[in-house]
Amino acid sequence: MLLVMERGATPEQVQAVVRRIEELGYEARPLAGRQRTAVAVLGNDGSVDAARFSDLAGIKEVVPVTEPYWKASREWRAENTVIRLPGGSAIGGDEVVVMAGPCSVESERQIVDTARRVRDAGATVLRGGAFKPRSSPYSFQGLGKPGLEWLAKARAETGLPVVTEVMDTESVELVARHADILQVGARNMQNFSLLRRVGQAGKPVLLKRGYAATVTELLLAAEYILAEGNEQVILCERGVRGFDGSTRFLLDLAAIPLVHQLSHLPIVADPSHGTGIRGKVLPMARAAVAAGADGLLVEVHPTPEQALSDGAQAITPGEFAELVRQCRGIAGVVGRRLAEPAKVAG
Ligand code: PEP
Ligand code: MN
Repeated sequence: MLLVMERGATPEQVQAVVRRIEELGYEARPLAGRQRTAVAVLGNDGSVDAARFSDLAGIKEVVPVTEPYWKASREWRAENTVIRLPGGSAIGGDEVVVMAGPCSVESERQIVDTARRVRDAGATVLRGGAFKPRSSPYSFQGLGKPGLEWLAKARAETGLPVVTEVMDTESVELVARHADILQVGARNMQNFSLLRRVGQAGKPVLLKRGYAATVTELLLAAEYILAEGNEQVILCERGVRGFDGSTRFLLDLAAIPLVHQLSHLPIVADPSHGTGIRGKVLPMARAAVAAGADGLLVEVHPTPEQALSDGAQAITPGEFAELVRQCRGIAGVVGRRLAEPAKVAG
């Protein structure tokens, strides 16, 4: 942290700042400039609370240097975190991992059939919600445990690892028994007890950005999971609330290179929730891969008009095959390649 003094700050005021820094247990280094003095804070492990200096006179600006998150930062780990998945693909390396499937598991047949079709089109991870966080309590809430069992069946038949949402601390164990990746949804991004609990679950976590959360808050949420000793965190940009209702959310593509600069953690993009409009999923998927996304999370339904949730943004398996084809081309242009589906008969 750097405390920049006002131009007319007196030597006593600079001295008071130095004393406060030392009282907090850090080293103070005054840097006298031609016009003003700045005092650097040294020896701190994490970020220093600026409020500790709010009562002192003569300070113009407090400039934080250390990010408030630590283990999630690039400073903590310079090289990318690569998360290996059952089936052979890896998120965070050279590959772009495509995760696809319906918003919700609706029946055994629906999920097994969709799993086969997205795998044949090039997906390497199957998505599908058994516990659904719905804005209305009267909307379809997901099938719960049977949904998890059918996801596991779809995995057994296709070889695709499964990502599915866990909504509360009580069901972490149950979901972790069936899933390969635990999804924490946008609405739960700052459910700190859930973050801590998935941090202890021993499975990779897909952490979706809250739709009113800053990138710093997303990385702080990841920090909760990392702080519990789970370093397998995949971030997900899924759109934030914009002022224009023309799309359901505003997919923040700039967050992708920004996260890559600030953090070693992989980040995938969800162009389905990010737009809410079927016809806009393909262009935003292409753009996300071009922006450097480590993967895509795409909602695919065999009959979108009959989907029990998010039908308006679901694409068909045929449209998904075209999305994969185009994104494979884009990945090549930016020096990546699409992860290849697991070789399992079925
Ligand atoms: C989902 O993936 O189906 C979902 C509910 O996503 P989000 O938490 O981003 O709204
Ligand atoms: Mn959905």
